[in-house]
Formats: sequence, C-alpha cells, structure tokens
Amino acid sequence: MRFASVMAFKRVLIANRGEIALRILRTLRDMGIEAAIIHGREDRLSLPVRFADVAYPIMRSNPLDSYLDIEAVVKAAKDLNCDAVHPGYGFLAENAHFVKRLEEEGITFIGPASDVITLLGDKIEARAAMEAAGLPTAKGSSEPISSADVASSLADEIGYPVIIKAAAGGGGIGMQIVNKADEFEGALKLCQSRAKSAFGDSRVFVEKYIEGAQHVEFQVLGDGKNAIHFGERFCSIQRRHQKLVEEGPWLSDEKRAEIGALVCAGAESVGYKGLATFEFLRDSNGDFYFLEVNPRVQVEHTVTELITGYNLVELGIRVAQGEDLPITQDDVVIRGHAIQCRLNAEDTTNFIPSPGRLWECHFPSGFGIRCDTHAHPGYEMPGCFDSLLAKLLAWGPDRESAIKRMRTALDETIITGVDHLIPLHRRIMDEEDFLAGDITIAYIDEHDHLLG
Ligand code: ADP
Repeated sequence: MRFASVMAFKRVLIANRGEIALRILRTLRDMGIEAAIIHGREDRLSLPVRFADVAYPIMRSNPLDSYLDIEAVVKAAKDLNCDAVHPGYGFLAENAHFVKRLEEEGITFIGPASDVITLLGDKIEARAAMEAAGLPTAKGSSEPISSADVASSLADEIGYPVIIKAAAGGGGIGMQIVNKADEFEGALKLCQSRAKSAFGDSRVFVEKYIEGAQHVEFQVLGDGKNAIHFGERFCSIQRRHQKLVEEGPWLSDEKRAEIGALVCAGAESVGYKGLATFEFLRDSNGDFYFLEVNPRVQVEHTVTELITGYNLVELGIRVAQGEDLPITQDDVVIRGHAIQCRLNAEDTTNFIPSPGRLWECHFPSGFGIRCDTHAHPGYEMPGCFDSLLAKLLAWGPDRESAIKRMRTALDETIITGVDHLIPLHRRIMDEEDFLAGDITIAYIDEHDHLLG
C-alpha cells in the first residue's frame, strides 16, 4: 500500500454515536489521530464517549437534536480545533447543507463534496447521472410526475407493475406499487404527501417494479478522480426495506468485474471522493438495475472488510486527507465468505424496538468472528435512536463454513434485559431457502413462520 505525504489530520470530530462512533474511533487511534466526539445526555456514559480523547456535550430536550443541530456540530468542531468531521451513517451524513457549512469553515468533511451529495440525494438526478455513465436503470420517468394521466400512459409503455418513489426518498418511505391504471390517482397522492412530510419535497417519479428481485450492492472508494470497487454484498433479507442479514461475495468473478467497472465509471463521472455504496436490484434473469448511491460508510461495510482485508474506514479518512487511492483494483482480492447479522434490540414478532437496561451481555469471539458493538452489561439501550445493538459477523473459507460459524456465535451470545433478534437469526441460519441461497427481497414476508 502506498503512503503519500499529505497533511495528516491531527484531530477528527466524530459526529455520531453507538457502534459506528466506536468503529471510527478505533481507526482514528490506529492512525494516530485524536478522536473528539459530540454527545447528547443519553450517551454521556457510552463507550465511544469514554474512550474519546475529548468529548463535547450537546444537550437537547429532543435527544435526536444533539446529533442533528448543524450549527452546534460546526461550533463543536471549531471549539475543539478539529481538522475534519466524520459523520458515520444517518444523522448529518447525507446533509449537503452541513457539508457546505464545514466547507465554509475550512473543516474537512470525511465524505464527498456538498454538490455531489445534492446530486446523489435526488433519485431522479442520480438515476439520470448514472444512466449517462452507462449504468443500467429500470425503465421509468426522467422527470417528476404529478398527473395520474401522465403516469398511466408511462406505465402502459413500460408495463405493470410500477412503483412510485419519492425523489428525495430514503428508508423506503412513501413507496407505492401500482398494478393498474385506476390505482394511480390515490397512490400518487399518498406518495406525494408522505414525501412532503418526511423530506419536505413532494416530487415523485415512476419506475418499473422489479418482481422477485434481489438486493445487491457494490462497495466503492473514490479519491475525487479515480475509483476502485471492493466487490458486492448481498442484502436481500430485509424488514420494511431495512437490512437484517448481509453477506458476500454473491456474484461470479465475471459479473463482479462487469458491474464493478460500471460503478467505478459512475463514481468517477461525478468526481466522487470517499466511500460509497451503489445499490442495485437484480431480477430473476440476473439483470441489474441501479437503485441509488449511498454517499457514506454503511452499516454492512464490515462484511467487505472481512473478505478483502482492507480497513474501509481508514481508506475513507486517507482520501479525505488528500491522498490519492492508496491501492489499485488489482490489489483487491476476495477471500472466503462473510455474513453479518444485525442484532437489533427489537421484538422478533413485529420488529418493534425494545429499549431497556442490559443486565447480562456477552458477545462471542474466536477464529473468524467479529462483533462491532457499543453494548456492555449495564448499558441502557435508549428508545429514541436506532435499535442496532450489535453487528455480529462470521467469516469462513466458504458460505457453508461461515454459516456454521455464525450458528456457533449466535448460540454463544447472551443478552438479557431487552428483546433482540438473535432467535430470528438463529432460525434463518437453519432455513432451507436461506441455505440454498434462494432469497429475494420478499424473504421475510414469505418466511413469516420464522418470526415469533
Ligand atoms: P430508499 O432510499 O427509500 O431506501 P431504494 O430506492 O434504495 O429506497 O429502495 C429500497 C428498497 O425498496 C429496495 O431494496 C427494494 O426492496 C424496494 N424497491 C425500490 N425500487 C424498486 C423497484 N423498482 N422494484 C422493486 N422493488 C423496489
């Protein structure tokens, strides 16, 4: 690996909490960079706050505001003399205004430029940009649609079913599947009003609904000029369009090289700097359709780290420091198979969050096991944030060995005090379709006997 002589960061502000804050903190330590962190009242005793070199409280009556108040976070970065801010995922990670404010203050945002975030945050624009770069997209509208007549004549052209999605969308909010023309009127109104209240932007668009699809995504790293990819992750086991199990690799070497070249071209076409994930749906014929780019580190980046051996968070920080890509595409070699189970504090029957104090908390270890968590005995799992308690990963030389190792690891995990998804994951690891790799995004709906 090349090490370029650039001005290294001395101190970085982590503008996040939970497992990802700890994940980033560890890498800053490894790199000899001081870790500063902001925190709200609920997190004042959390591990990342206790381990940080310096912690900066931002107390707000609404706990989310501690991590969402742009001016307060910018002030923290200035008061603490930070060279850069790492946003993690969620909160301000995809907020172009936040990135712009940091740019104005001369503080580096560890991620892409604000105009790239603005472009990619708009699904209509992102689709058009990636189509122009040669990526395959589902047939659909290239402009916002507000009339049911226009929508239904478009649907006649591309064929039913279609899906209406918010241009500013995220988290699967507002999406409506339409099977015939007379459903458009109501579905359009519903999607527009959900989009307006969730994102403050009522623009929606229509695209072909891909039936029996799988979710496959590519990990990319760009330095603003060039981009490389780290292969794919398979993330079709989802609840309410949110991932529960992620694994990789999934594709043949040929397909990986083909789609990988396209995503790199896509990233280079927008001058992408930092880590990105290009999400696709793959239909039953094996054809790919670009969905969106997530311009940040993702929860499941860990799967890719286990099968490539690269610390992606470190690479993201290094390109933010101004280094060129320190490795080439040929350096990225996939070895073995990795699976990640998200151990959410949730009820396994209905996925309702289960906050509370952890009385007992023991995580597994051993060869091929990784567990990223901020949880510990006595930890009070708050109800106001994401319910992710731990990410449990197993690596093996092949998928079968990784699954066996995951079963052992799940059996060794002890969490008492809150409900959690370990029983569900344990059942998935024994389920026939899962074992056969016969999995689409409808997996949880089609296997609801596993819940409960
Ligand atoms: P969001 O940004 O709201 O998460 P995405 O565009 O990434 O939205 O889609 C999230 C999920 O919604 C996908 O993983 C898939 O399950 C479903 N989805 C989105 N677009 C389509 C489509 N055209 N056909 C079928 N399912 C879709």
